[in-house]
Amino acid sequence: AAAAGRALTIGLIPADGIGREVIPAARRVLEALPSGLLAARPRFVDLDAGFEYFQRHGVALPEETLAALKGDCDGALFGAVSSPSHKVAGYSSPIVGLRKRLDLYANVRPVISGAAATASGARRAIDMLIIRENTECLYIKDEELHDGPDGRYAVAKRRISERASRRVGEMAFAMALQRDGMRRLAPEAERTWKARPKVTIVHKSNVLSVTDGLWRETVRGVHAASAQYRDAVDVEEQLVDSMVYRMFREPEAFDVVVAPNMYGDIISDGAAALVGSLGLVPSANVGDAFVVGEPVHGSAPDIAGRNIANPIAAIRSAAMLLERLGCEPAALAIYRAVDRVLADGRVATPDIGGRSTTTEVADAVCSQL
Ligand code: ATP
Ligand code: MG
Repeated sequence: AAAAGRALTIGLIPADGIGREVIPAARRVLEALPSGLLAARPRFVDLDAGFEYFQRHGVALPEETLAALKGDCDGALFGAVSSPSHKVAGYSSPIVGLRKRLDLYANVRPVISGAAATASGARRAIDMLIIRENTECLYIKDEELHDGPDGRYAVAKRRISERASRRVGEMAFAMALQRDGMRRLAPEAERTWKARPKVTIVHKSNVLSVTDGLWRETVRGVHAASAQYRDAVDVEEQLVDSMVYRMFREPEAFDVVVAPNMYGDIISDGAAALVGSLGLVPSANVGDAFVVGEPVHGSAPDIAGRNIANPIAAIRSAAMLLERLGCEPAALAIYRAVDRVLADGRVATPDIGGRSTTTEVADAVCSQL
């Protein structure tokens, strides 16, 4: 929450493919924010990273980029990185590097739909925020292959720690409160969520009673230990299998959802399918000291360079960045401008059935602002 009183400095890392089209579009939207919503016009720092950069320079995440982020920037926007189809010696994903080096321990993904079709044909509002722990669980990649008497077998270790569970739990309750505050800033008629804030803890402790038991107990403990959270935020639990079932049957029932790394990966991709094109879904990589907004989609080599990529995921990621930096009114203005462009429907890229260009969609959002 650095916002008050001075200009924000935002690092821009377009990286590969359509990242180079959607990040400039998001930048233009940030530049179009009416004065008064931010203390001062944001400053931008253009930074290198990515697979193409790696092919030219032998490094995917240059130290200069990290130094600029740590030294000058309040937060950053990352475009997309192309993933080589085969293993390339010396290459590792720059976004994974950023998460590690900046301690961005949670991946946060909102799933929003003003008018989602349901099986019954009714139109219901989905407005959910999935928070995925992003440092441990099965992603410690501690696997072993053994020769046994009955053939080979493999074992993967899964790490769940109190510290990682606690900090992501803390983030879930804090964001539930912040979202509630944001909703109150919006006009009554536009509020999709009118109930008390709620956090759903996802686990499978009926099977993994030690690891998921510790996760569940620790996140519950964050709620129990805070009078503010107990007073203002409800808490519920959901086994991951029934989470998936309920998410598809009644997605409007969820507010903030917090999950360990692997379950979070699966449910957040499933949730993206609820609201249509990948080109609409934003995310943020969040730590205590830094935040990097990032559209969920990849570099989309099939459409790169043609000015037809949907910039809305990147634009919403820019709004998430502002939200995290404590500039809620500016973030809300961007969310609402995007919603109006989508509702109007006249300016839309091909992935959502339109014929407009990336640039035209960005222009439409700017003029709504
Ligand atoms: P990568 O290896 O970078 O992940 P990919 O081939 O998996 O590349 P994605 O970016 O994940 O590509 O996209 C999957 C599909 O969704 C592609 O057909 C792509 O064109 C489409 N897509 C992704 N993002 C957008 C967007 N912003 N606008 C329009 N279409 C998109
Ligand atoms: Mg992909």
